[in-house]
Amino acid sequence: MSADSVKNIGLVFMVDYICTIKFEINNMNLHEYQGKEILSGFGVRIQRGLVAQSAAEAVAAAKQLTDETGTSWHVIKAQVHAGGRGKGGGVKLAKNLSEVESIANDIIGMNLITPQTSAEGKKVHQVLVAEDVYYPGETETNEFYMSVLLNRSKGRNMIMYSTEGGMDIETVAEETPHLIFTEEVDPSVGLMPFQARRIAFNLGLSGLAFKEMTKFATNLYTAYVKSDASLFEINPVLKTSDNKIMAVDAKVTIDDNALFRHKDYQSLRDFREENPIEVEAGELGLNYVDLDGNVGCMVNGAGLAMATMDLIKQAGGEPANFLDVGGTADASRVEAAFKIILKDPAVKAILINIFGGIVRCDRVAQGVIDAYQNMGTINVPIIVRLQGTNADIAKQLIDNSGLDVQSAVEFQEAADKVQAVLS
Ligand code: GDP
Ligand code: MN
Repeated sequence: MSADSVKNIGLVFMVDYICTIKFEINNMNLHEYQGKEILSGFGVRIQRGLVAQSAAEAVAAAKQLTDETGTSWHVIKAQVHAGGRGKGGGVKLAKNLSEVESIANDIIGMNLITPQTSAEGKKVHQVLVAEDVYYPGETETNEFYMSVLLNRSKGRNMIMYSTEGGMDIETVAEETPHLIFTEEVDPSVGLMPFQARRIAFNLGLSGLAFKEMTKFATNLYTAYVKSDASLFEINPVLKTSDNKIMAVDAKVTIDDNALFRHKDYQSLRDFREENPIEVEAGELGLNYVDLDGNVGCMVNGAGLAMATMDLIKQAGGEPANFLDVGGTADASRVEAAFKIILKDPAVKAILINIFGGIVRCDRVAQGVIDAYQNMGTINVPIIVRLQGTNADIAKQLIDNSGLDVQSAVEFQEAADKVQAVLS
């Protein structure tokens, strides 16, 4: 495959790809050790390891691994939902049991800050104690990158791979895009043997490593499809000194919408790793994603919610969240949504944008008024745009309520009012 065909991936795909990695709505992220267990179940070779919640457990795990694999060196790896752990001091090599103990002691309970976490970092609750699979003198030329994901614009699965493993793939994409290869897979046919061979060839492999890589890619693709994942990212994939190909790291994201088919995966969810406001919103049946801005949004329908966020940005503001309250925006849902939005201290105004198709606008307006009164004081201005069935009655209700709620009929008018209260 040539550099030109890489360019042909196109901006849309790269953006889509980055979005998949960074903005995972409707997805369940797994820990490295959980992802590796799934991979192993599909015959993908993995770096063996055991999870530990304490230093004592880590030592016991290391002893067990030594009995099973013969290696006396181990890597201790923080288990948090963020990449770049190595750079933040969350991946360390231990050369004996006392180092296992002291490193595990240091990592468990630490606040791990990596390029992918917020400035506060993420608290580490557990570590993976893994066999050391790097032989002394091993160079990083033996580290590869491989991911499987959906190329939405083409409606096909995609294997993305590179000789530049162990590095941040966004950096590789920026600086040396010709070193990233892609293999498109027709989902109805699956990964063809010639494609698996092309991957091994492009990675410069031969002999046993070549055969191992075709098996690795084939099984990885099967794991991705069968587990209903939206992303499998293995960075690095290692060629060991005895030419075996194995997954050293695993970032796995399962599509929430398919979880009903995988009852055994549901227990893999680690709520400690998720945004607490998003978890609470999920329990209330609200589709909420926390964002960085200061304008809270309450919208019915995901499409209108996206358009509302665009409009806020166009008017010079920044959305504080994505929130789809769903089709039945009654008083109790509106109240629940208010509570969720107001948990974010950055919110300086709330824009409610409801299209009354199935739901009548006057009922939503009454819901807003009831919720507002039930909640006592809401200290931020609220702009409500209700459009559709009974929009005029709804506007009257809001205007006559005596509350600090402004009504708008047009989209632009709503955005302008938001801007006016912010400035
Ligand atoms: P990430 O930093 O969160 O992506 O975590 P990784 O699992 O990718 O580990 C980071 C780095 O640690 C890898 O790129 C390797 O260079 C190194 N590493 C991982 N496993 C081993 C191991 O078994 N032995 C040694 N010496 N290094 C390892
Ligand atoms: Mn990694």
